[in-house]
Amino acid sequence: MTEIVRMDKAGVTRAAALLREGALVAFGTETVYGLGADATNAEAVAAIFQAKGRPRFNPLICHYPSSDAAFRHVVADERARAIGRSFWPGPLTLVLPRQPDCPVALLTGAGLDTLAVRVPDHPAAMSLLRQAGRPIAAPSANRSGHVSPTCAQHVLDELGGRIAAILDSGPCKVGVESTVLDLSGPEPVLLRPGGVSVEDLEARLGPIRRGAAPTASKGLRSPGLLESHYAPDLPVRLGAVSVADDEALLAFGAPLPGARCCFQLSETGRTIEAAARLFEGLRWLDAEGSRLGLRGIAVMPVPDTELGLAVNDRLQRAAAPRGQ
Ligand code: AMP
Ligand code: MG
Repeated sequence: MTEIVRMDKAGVTRAAALLREGALVAFGTETVYGLGADATNAEAVAAIFQAKGRPRFNPLICHYPSSDAAFRHVVADERARAIGRSFWPGPLTLVLPRQPDCPVALLTGAGLDTLAVRVPDHPAAMSLLRQAGRPIAAPSANRSGHVSPTCAQHVLDELGGRIAAILDSGPCKVGVESTVLDLSGPEPVLLRPGGVSVEDLEARLGPIRRGAAPTASKGLRSPGLLESHYAPDLPVRLGAVSVADDEALLAFGAPLPGARCCFQLSETGRTIEAAARLFEGLRWLDAEGSRLGLRGIAVMPVPDTELGLAVNDRLQRAAAPRGQ
């Protein structure tokens, strides 16, 4: 059962408590309804992908109640701070490098070194974020491939029974998604047009390059090009039924014997746990395996059920020859 929660004080308190427990709560913003989860809780974030039925992990936007709160988790230069001051709260998302001690789960940013952050311009969303006391990851609150919802009823039609609650904050004012601007490099790049016009941004920043959609630049790792997904430096071998002396092991279920360096995705074979631990595991094995002089990462099979589909999609891309 999905609770419909009113936008009053008691409702916001209830919705914030659910988020803090790791439950999924949809809430209205000025753009569209978002499907929120505690961004620091990897399993809660994995549950977003499960509820949406998304077959792949894409980076999610992290929502904050203020620019100060957002800029504590990302590295913001004077340019980013000025843009934040001018356009926040509002329908603008900034992509910036993660702070080294950023508590946001790697899954939230799909394993990338950058994080997309935004301060929404909506009173209920704002008090929800303040009371939750942690960043909230929220993609649009619709099933994968469907249009973004702009009222509580749309969310109920899409996700009723699959999420804990919907904070009903009335119809959305803007109705289109936020503009996504990448300020992680020297040159500003527009990743997605949206609620803030590129002309308004250019008036402050000078010319902005129109970027390819992140998904269009799959696997490119060349400097200056958008890195659309995280892949370890060590080669990745899928479907391993044994592990060589010089391989690290990414295990799922009872680990294969003989690995000198092993990261367990899920001892009990839960795909949601594997999703939550995937990026942490790849990063750890990459670092630890390289330190030990190992030559690759062997990955045990993960079933294509539930979140296993998205886990396998990412593993296949990590295993693909670079530049594909
Ligand atoms: P949605 O959450 O559905 O509104 O979509 C979020 C948008 O922001 C997508 O286009 C993402 O690809 C983009 N995005 C989020 N985080 C990043 C990031 N770290 N780097 C590049 N694009 C991002
Ligand atoms: Mg969407």
